[in-house]
Amino acid sequence: MQDLFENAISQNTPNQFVAEFDKGIQLYIKREDLLHPEVSGNKFRKLKYNLLQAKELGKRQILTFGGAHSNHISATAAAGKILGFEMIAVVRGEELTDSEEKWSPTLKYASSCGIKFDFISREEYRKKDSEDYLENLKLKYPEAYIIPEGGTNDLAIKGCEEILSKQDDDFNYICSSVGTGGTLSGLINSANGSQKVLGFSSLKTDYLKDEISKSVNSDNWEIIPDYHFGGYARVNADLINFMNDFSKKYKIILDPVYTGKLVFGIFDLVKQGYFPENSKILAIHTGGLQGIEGMNRLLKKKDLPQIEY
Ligand SMILES: *Cc1c(COP(=O)(O)O)cnc(C)c1O
Repeated sequence: MQDLFENAISQNTPNQFVAEFDKGIQLYIKREDLLHPEVSGNKFRKLKYNLLQAKELGKRQILTFGGAHSNHISATAAAGKILGFEMIAVVRGEELTDSEEKWSPTLKYASSCGIKFDFISREEYRKKDSEDYLENLKLKYPEAYIIPEGGTNDLAIKGCEEILSKQDDDFNYICSSVGTGGTLSGLINSANGSQKVLGFSSLKTDYLKDEISKSVNSDNWEIIPDYHFGGYARVNADLINFMNDFSKKYKIILDPVYTGKLVFGIFDLVKQGYFPENSKILAIHTGGLQGIEGMNRLLKKKDLPQIEY
């Protein structure tokens, strides 16, 4: 149990220098994607205290939720296998029941780790956070430790408070992509008083700000809403071309759902003069590279460029 979370490069991932722009503005990337080969990036941080808690409660089974390309499902499957939990994933899309040939690379991988799927309709999936639904689920899986979609809860935020450490103290801006906001909440809670935390939303939504406000102890943060590219998991050729140029030039592969949009956004804000002279920016590479294969299949169907990795 301890091994997964203590033997990984765990507490301090390296900050890689990326570029110096005009006006002495510097960009570094914190390589959280290197934390663990299968339990990648922020999902490692979010799972850590949850799985320790499940163990402490004597639970043998982990139950969680996600879509067919979910980084959280992938990471949970990998961590569960290493730690010997039984795993169940409630997955959106009842058409996937009994039709393994339609499964995404993520689902195939998770299945190979031993996770069992409970496929439900999109309509039912929307109700998954309601009390009724959860009560029924607890009757069906009385032994399970339940982790919400995307892995976000208080213990996940506690884990994400370990992303930043003393070595990061002299950065002026901490930038991260945002899905549910759990990761950003952890960053906000652990940033020092002179740092500003910027959350680049990957979703077209306006409720994030209120959600995050409930879990944080500081107000030196902001949501940047302008780089979602049309919504969650939406991409266009500009984004893909940017990601491919970036990985060629800086030897860091980005994912299309989160970190690609984050780094695109930072480059654009630099161009617009958003950051003051001599700003030191730290962007968090939250991982997510497992989703590229599935995205490339979709891109091919849409006649868009492939992500090189
Ligand atoms: C899940 C995920 C996020 C979003 O994290 P939240 O805590 O839900 O905001 C960001 N980046 C990557 C790579 C992810 O997999």
